[in-house]
Amino acid sequence: MTVDLQRLNVNLASAQASATYRMMDRVAAKRASGARVISLSAGEPDFDTPAHVCDAAIEAIRAGHTRYTQVAGMRPLREAIAAKFQRDNGLDIGWQDTIVCTGGKQVIYNALSATLNAGDEVIVPAPYWVSYPEMVQLSGATPVIVSCGADVGFKLTPAALARAISASTRWLILNSPSNPTGAVYTREELAALAEVLLAHPHVLVLSDDIYEHLTFDGARFHTLAAVEPRLAPRTLTMNGVSKAYAMTGWRIGFGTGPRWLLEAMEKVQGQQTSGTCSISQHAALAALTGPQDFIGESRAVFEERRDLMVRMLNDTPGLSCLVPGGAFYAFASCEGLLGRRTAAGTLLNTDEDVAGALLDEANVAVVHGSAFGLGPYIRIAYALDTESLRQACLAIREFCQSLRD
Ligand code: GLU
Repeated sequence: MTVDLQRLNVNLASAQASATYRMMDRVAAKRASGARVISLSAGEPDFDTPAHVCDAAIEAIRAGHTRYTQVAGMRPLREAIAAKFQRDNGLDIGWQDTIVCTGGKQVIYNALSATLNAGDEVIVPAPYWVSYPEMVQLSGATPVIVSCGADVGFKLTPAALARAISASTRWLILNSPSNPTGAVYTREELAALAEVLLAHPHVLVLSDDIYEHLTFDGARFHTLAAVEPRLAPRTLTMNGVSKAYAMTGWRIGFGTGPRWLLEAMEKVQGQQTSGTCSISQHAALAALTGPQDFIGESRAVFEERRDLMVRMLNDTPGLSCLVPGGAFYAFASCEGLLGRRTAAGTLLNTDEDVAGALLDEANVAVVHGSAFGLGPYIRIAYALDTESLRQACLAIREFCQSLRD
């Protein structure tokens, strides 16, 4: 009898490792070998977590808040989350309508794994954040990718949504401002999508609002459940402190949605992590209830960086990008680089080749667009200081100028 010890779960076997993390690992390996790499790969703010948030965490340790909390999160934090959803989003909810999870990722994963079965479909507009289709796959269901190109501003249109919905559709995943494109849905665009969804009462909606506070040019952020309250009973609105308060490592995400769904998610979480780190929960409480100036200050900094990046990238031969309305990503077409050869002799056939050669030959790390479901593009995270961004853009430009046919 042959023994196959390495046989994996069938859903995992067909899933991909996270492309963002793979690139971050490559950067770490290169740095460890002594190279100076400018990384525009990781989607995380470069700022320090605000001091009062760190102090609250230290105080929590000193006060002995080092034990398990309730699985769905400690009540004061859930109350602060409910207040946040009321204050910022106009969602009329109570603390029992919330859940705290280990990062935004676990909110999404809990929801999908709690509700999906083989044969279920999840509509994922592309470009998408790398983990959505993989999480659907890991839950045994099928991602239905709807391509949304630059011609529609990388946004899902009502017609494309209507075409994608089938009797098997279980979820639609929406993300605005978007990772990786920075696209922001207007109130009118969300209302038009809601019209379609109202005609399909079997579809749940996941609204990933993690970049809520990063909208530029004075644009206002809108979330689906507030734009169309009739969809609130079947919408999971997800957010977290990672991007708003520079707290990626603290791993605090949260969500609000119908109670049956939150209870199912809590059941998954109770068997999986028992809930989120108690100290991080105290830090998140301080972030949500303390001074909010950090949000506006970081938005202003990111908007300046966005302007610099878009200008420099569009000045680079072979690259072009739309002006992103939010988040901290530029999604640049690299079509003009394909078919060309680098100074070291590498032929650039795909956007993955472009990202690889940029790292190898220009010491700049970006993530290839096809990992986000649309090529040939590169995603450039501009969460670095201005000087490093300028240097990175100059290195990218030099790389592009040195290509030959
Ligand atoms: N959301 C960030 C990114 O897209 C963090 C990495 C990840 O979780 O994929 O880069």
